[in-house]
Amino acid sequence: MKTCPRCDSSLDDEARYCVECGAPQTEDAAEELDEYVQRQAQQVAADSGAEGGGSDGSDGDDGSRFIPTEELTDREQLWRRGCYVLGYGTIVVALTLVPQVGAFPLILGGIAILPPIRRLTAEPLGSPLKREVMAGLYAVFALLGVALLVLL
Ligand SMILES: [Zn+2]
Repeated sequence: MKTCPRCDSSLDDEARYCVECGAPQTEDAAEELDEYVQRQAQQVAADSGAEGGGSDGSDGDDGSRFIPTEELTDREQLWRRGCYVLGYGTIVVALTLVPQVGAFPLILGGIAILPPIRRLTAEPLGSPLKREVMAGLYAVFALLGVALLVLL
């Protein structure tokens, strides 16, 4: 029998780790533990980096950091693609109308429906706004823009 240098509990001679306090009892075990801790630290750093960073939306993979990709159903993918098409389409059309006042709500609406914008709403609110809310915003801005274009 030997005793753990850290906690003095008696250990099997073959023991690589102390059963009481977990202290490594051999050089190999110490190295192994060290590597394990470093791997864990890297993992944690990578995870927190992925969650905290990338909020500028420039990378274009919206939402997939909050929702694992495998949980995105076909319908959600389709919705997301639709939002991009509608958003960019609206902005492009609105830009051609720019001297007119109605173009500006259209641009805002187009921006609001882009999926990265929805992801940004998660930062102050804790979780992203519902798609329906963003679509509603788009509808309000679009109607406002069209109304202004027609009336003015
Ligand atoms: Zn111990």
